[in-house]
Amino acid sequence: MGYVDEVLELVSKKNADQPEFLQAVTEVLNTLRPVVDANEELYRSNAILERITEPDRVLMFRVPWVDDKGQVQVNRGFRVQFNNAIGPYKGGLRLHPSVNLGIIKFLGFEQVFKNSLTSLPIGGGKGGSDFDPKGKSDREIMAFCQSFMTELCKYIGADVDVPAGDIGTGAREIGFMFGQYKRIRGTYEGVLTGKGLSYGGSLARTEATGYGLLYITEELMKCHGDSLEGKTIAVSGAGNVAIYAIQKAQQLGAKVVTCSDSTGWIYDPEGIDVELLREVKEVKRARLTEYAAARKSAEYHEKKNGEHGVWSVKCDIALPCATQNELDLEDAKQLVANGVKAVCEGANMPTTLEATEYFQNNGVMFICGKAANAGGVATSALEMSQNSERLSWTFEEVDAKLKNIMVNIYHNIDDAAKRYGMEGNYVAGANIAGFEKVVNAMLAQGVY
Ligand code: GLU
Repeated sequence: MGYVDEVLELVSKKNADQPEFLQAVTEVLNTLRPVVDANEELYRSNAILERITEPDRVLMFRVPWVDDKGQVQVNRGFRVQFNNAIGPYKGGLRLHPSVNLGIIKFLGFEQVFKNSLTSLPIGGGKGGSDFDPKGKSDREIMAFCQSFMTELCKYIGADVDVPAGDIGTGAREIGFMFGQYKRIRGTYEGVLTGKGLSYGGSLARTEATGYGLLYITEELMKCHGDSLEGKTIAVSGAGNVAIYAIQKAQQLGAKVVTCSDSTGWIYDPEGIDVELLREVKEVKRARLTEYAAARKSAEYHEKKNGEHGVWSVKCDIALPCATQNELDLEDAKQLVANGVKAVCEGANMPTTLEATEYFQNNGVMFICGKAANAGGVATSALEMSQNSERLSWTFEEVDAKLKNIMVNIYHNIDDAAKRYGMEGNYVAGANIAGFEKVVNAMLAQGVY
């Protein structure tokens, strides 16, 4: 049995109850085969694949907090510090009832490669809790965030591990957590990114993931003799990534006709009104039914199991920006039947393995989240730089750096795929390019 298969078997045995983690590891290791074959002895004797699939450490803790009725609630908190070969652990905190150890491990594992692709000095980590922010008052959110940070603050720091936002964690939550860290540790440092502008946040961080997704999509189109001008785009999600993806897509001349949340989706043939969407989602924290109620051209559809939702709409480009495994094989078939040309992932692992293969086998250009959504964490790393030098850069400066990073990522993953005879396979290219840098650093630093 080859080294990759041996390790896949080992990882499956050790983590049988973590399907998302196994899915992420399977995708990465399968695409690394040519690199592993070329370096088998070196990697095997150094147990590189065993080490890269086992986190440096996993922290799990109780998060008790008091709700508005005076009732004590208990959630489970996580931080997975996956790999710090190339820099301090870096990655978001997800607050969602679906969160469990397997999901945080899959996200942390992906983050290692993504962060490496940014070309900035950041290792990979991820955290979060099964806390559900939906329907909670600001005071309850604060109580949770303070309790969460009371434990987490022992394990993080500006040069150790720098958490940020993810699903359920935005500027409000980061603010409460930053305040608690400062209060307990007594230091004012860039321990979190995605901070408010008045206390060390970076301009353009809010927009960065969505903008970055469009910058790489634009480069992909450009390098294939095409552009975004006049294209119809289907977006899923209505959170931070989706909103700014829609805004940038429109600025670049495309028309975005869909978005979705956990209960339903919008088809708006005149193009999503992004200001209205921001008002409904960011300001009011309301459901998309409010968007539909305020906009004549919009159709609202309840989410139904077995239906394709936003992926049933005819489009040139699909940008899944909601959550993992939201686009399956049947959705992929529908999109291909409708003539989709490119799929770029704004969320982390939104496309199942089967759907990814279907796109690749049917001539659809496909860029995985590790590359396509790296603009968020890249801009977080720019926020860290600004905090270190105690300066803040202009929006234009940060945005220009972000664009440059995304264009470079495209060319790096394209080159990596070509180097191993897999031209056009951007999944393999992203995994290989991300992996090579981390492995070189691991080998240089000795066994740990
Ligand atoms: N949660 C985002 C991601 O998946 C951003 C992480 C960060 O900024 O550290 O990459």
